[in-house]
Amino acid sequence: MSTVAAISTGLAPGGIGIVRISGEDAFSVAEKVFVSKNGKLLKDLRGYQALLGAVKSEDGELFDEVVALVYRAPKSYTGEDVVEFNCHGGLFVTRQVLRSVLSAGAAPAPAGEFTKRAFLNGKIDLAGAESVMNIISSHSEQEAKAAFNTLEGALSKKLSEINGILISSSASLAAWVDYPDDEIEELSSGELVKNLNTAKKELEQLINRFDAGKAVIGGVRTAIVGKPNVGKSTIMNLLLGEERSIVTSVEGTTRDIVEETAVIGAATLRLADTAGLRSSDDEVEKIGVDKAKKWLESADFVLAVFDNSRPFANEDEDIVNLVKEKKCVAIINKCDLPTALNKEIIIQNFSDTVEISAKNPDDRKLLSDSIEKVLETADFDPSVASLINARQKNCCENALREITQAIEDLENGVTLDAVNVTVDCAIDELLVLTGEKASDAVINEIFSRFCVGK
Ligand code: GDP
Repeated sequence: MSTVAAISTGLAPGGIGIVRISGEDAFSVAEKVFVSKNGKLLKDLRGYQALLGAVKSEDGELFDEVVALVYRAPKSYTGEDVVEFNCHGGLFVTRQVLRSVLSAGAAPAPAGEFTKRAFLNGKIDLAGAESVMNIISSHSEQEAKAAFNTLEGALSKKLSEINGILISSSASLAAWVDYPDDEIEELSSGELVKNLNTAKKELEQLINRFDAGKAVIGGVRTAIVGKPNVGKSTIMNLLLGEERSIVTSVEGTTRDIVEETAVIGAATLRLADTAGLRSSDDEVEKIGVDKAKKWLESADFVLAVFDNSRPFANEDEDIVNLVKEKKCVAIINKCDLPTALNKEIIIQNFSDTVEISAKNPDDRKLLSDSIEKVLETADFDPSVASLINARQKNCCENALREITQAIEDLENGVTLDAVNVTVDCAIDELLVLTGEKASDAVINEIFSRFCVGK
């Protein structure tokens, strides 16, 4: 594989900027641009050793003092020879170091290239690689812990347990199919069904935990909906803990979507302060309303807001109908004002209702508790294996469908070779999840979502 390089630190001025070079020519490329203080060469270092020196620009002039760190294959992040230049973290200087390295023969590393190489060289599996992005983008301690546990193999271990059961079932089936007359112990379909049921239960547990896990890892896409002036922006600010979106008492002024993240206990809400959901003649406001509808359609969680101080209106009814199918908390807001709302209608239509005054910061706790209850994140244990994205969930659902089919077939006396094919399909789905059988297209798609330098 070619030798690649990229800036691995953030693209903002900082104390240190790191340019990482990985590949079989990493040392020779680095050597062309690096001059050590003590005259030693990088190629003479053992892994995990460093040299102080300077980097030369493309025209041969020394321009920054750097520490060069050496990692030797396979003991590096990518599993290849790696040199990292730790330079002064100014943007110009870091880019200049990269320019020198590229002109010395390295190719620019595409997004996610280092982690992709780590995967291809067997340093991490696909689930672990995917968790790297979640670690980088985590908003809360729980999210970082859960993503770190995935990187450390909590999910891979669970999947390999499940696949172990399936593989041994498949092996018994195959032996019986191939040598039915030999002295292979009579295959007990009861035993097989029992084992397959164990695998099925484990997969169901993983899938059932997905929604809560998703709310912790990556965050849940949340829409705040309600007629104009019910207090959506005020609630958003209450959740964010600071003044963010414009709060005004003129109806319909929250015209565009403001996206923020709020950490509620273990959960991260990806919030949009959506414009009042009502038909409007104002062109600008119309755009806001359309965006709000789109956001709501794709939201996995909804905070539906009603105004305690105004009677239940047609617009409120529209909101009730709009969010019926969604995971939802109904918020009766402005409870500090005299009641004019028929609360019964709300209570009847929503399984979770909370009464607050968004203007009162103490009510944040009431709201947070309701949110955590509905998202089931209050007792989330980040050390337990979690699926961290829709791709992984999809693989598990496919595997579960195959296992359920295999069990049904065994119980209905379908031939064992047909059952074995079905079990093998379930195994393949789990191997796609861990990356052992993922196609190049899937792998490329996953790593293209990474940032450059990771
Ligand atoms: P939105 O149009 O739904 O985003 O509503 P806003 O958050 O802009 O709030 C509309 C008005 O209601 C503002 O004047 C807020 O200060 C006020 N408001 C919001 N929540 C409460 C509350 O709990 N009690 C009272 N009394 N006023 C509130």
